[in-house]
Amino acid sequence: MLYFQQNARTYGEAIALLSGSKAYSYSTLIGQAENIAGILLENQADLHQSPVAYMVEPGFAYVSAQWGIWLAGGIAVPVALAHPLDSIKYILQDTGAKTFICSASFTSLLSDFCREAGVRLIVWEDKPESRQVSLPEVPIDRGAMILYTSGTTSLPKGVLSTHHGIESQIKSLVEAWKYTTNDHTLCVLPLHHIHGIINVISATLYVGGKVEFLPQFSPEEIFTRFKQGALNVFMAVPTIYFKLIAYLESLTESERKELKTCMQAFRLMISGSAALPVSVMEKWEILSGQRLLERYGMTEIGMAISNPYEGERRAGHVGMPLPNVQVRLVDEENGVVEGQPGEIQIKGPTVFKEYWGKEKATQEAFTEDGWFKTGDVAELADGYYRILGRNSTDIIKSGGYKLSALEIEEVLRTHPSVEDCSVVGLPDEEWGEIVAAVVVLKSDISSDALNTFMRSKMPAYRVPRKYLFLTELPRNAMGKVTKNDLKVLFT
Ligand code: ATP
Ligand code: MG
Repeated sequence: MLYFQQNARTYGEAIALLSGSKAYSYSTLIGQAENIAGILLENQADLHQSPVAYMVEPGFAYVSAQWGIWLAGGIAVPVALAHPLDSIKYILQDTGAKTFICSASFTSLLSDFCREAGVRLIVWEDKPESRQVSLPEVPIDRGAMILYTSGTTSLPKGVLSTHHGIESQIKSLVEAWKYTTNDHTLCVLPLHHIHGIINVISATLYVGGKVEFLPQFSPEEIFTRFKQGALNVFMAVPTIYFKLIAYLESLTESERKELKTCMQAFRLMISGSAALPVSVMEKWEILSGQRLLERYGMTEIGMAISNPYEGERRAGHVGMPLPNVQVRLVDEENGVVEGQPGEIQIKGPTVFKEYWGKEKATQEAFTEDGWFKTGDVAELADGYYRILGRNSTDIIKSGGYKLSALEIEEVLRTHPSVEDCSVVGLPDEEWGEIVAAVVVLKSDISSDALNTFMRSKMPAYRVPRKYLFLTELPRNAMGKVTKNDLKVLFT
């Protein structure tokens, strides 16, 4: 029996999900999942080989579809509601999915394409009557889910994880972040990435807690839910905290005070998926009374490094390895380094099985002795890891130096006229790369004045040589700046 079946039995009539104005118990949820499994088993014989895609609203439909696919022994492929048709086609083709579960509202968008591609479309329906289904025994080392990476640096890659891998990820978080049956988590994240799926939904349900869903992101709606006083856990990406801060700053002093009192009662607030600017962490602490716990993770490895639940949550750092995760830093020859920056490599049961359909990419992603190469660079100081950025876009190789774009961004953000910024390396014959900054301004300032400011803060070789002003930074669905889109703006 898979872990979530066992848990659903244990927590039975307790509330698992709150979506819309409705509450759903664990029994109702597993009952609906069994219905879906039954339909899938009737329709497709080779479920463990050819994945099942699903695109349904966050909440009861989403979790029951995912569990239904798993109960039937299938591989679940969540598709984002916000995806344009081309991305949906890419995912269906790349996974070779033969079945697509979708909400009734999407059938007109999908039916032509699915018919032509030979994909069976199954409409998700709320069936109050449970039917008798004979479920297969699903081995825990079987592929369970293909999640696409965020597509920050190139086309998203399909990452296949097993049930054992997913359960290992969940257990590691439950232990480190102390989830309990009393947890009531608000889910505001898109449900085709690990952050929302594992950290918010799966881990909360693993211990018998409740997950509440928002139909769509809105600061007003989030704070309305906070005021109701039932929620106690919140997880988001830095851009969401950024937007919530802007909203709080637009309120009156007394409204802010009222919200601060509500937020102070939370057990835990977490940030991840991209670097949390120190200024955002500090402002959030003042406005909410909560010191954010920042952690580092990736679709391929789950969560790997985290600030402590108890103990110092260090700004600008991601903390220490999570339970069951081995971490090492290496140089370009895979030699372990100490006291200097290196690439993060990860080993352990939480690591994915393979890039779907990409044998060569999978092979290249691991060292000979089985460590996964993250492509992210970090340093370790005083027991805390600090992310310096992605080797491909954030580590700028200029005149023999390796500069961290994230460090330069942190300094630039401290200028009172700078709302937000992103630093990239541009190819240069003389220097290899030169530093360039894209800046969103709060108030007018010239690039010369910014340059003078930066020169007063850091050695000349780290100071941006070029500035470009935009009204907004280009970001993907996870709120990550797509730096390759920025680089071309300088050419
Ligand atoms: P793609 O692989 O398609 O380019 P992606 O790497 O953004 O996209 P994800 O797997 O969603 O896809 O994100 C993992 C990456 O996010 C990590 O490799 C790391 O670069 C970044 N990241 C996650 N958490 C943090 C953090 N706390 N600080 C800095 N970077 C982070
Ligand atoms: Mg990646």
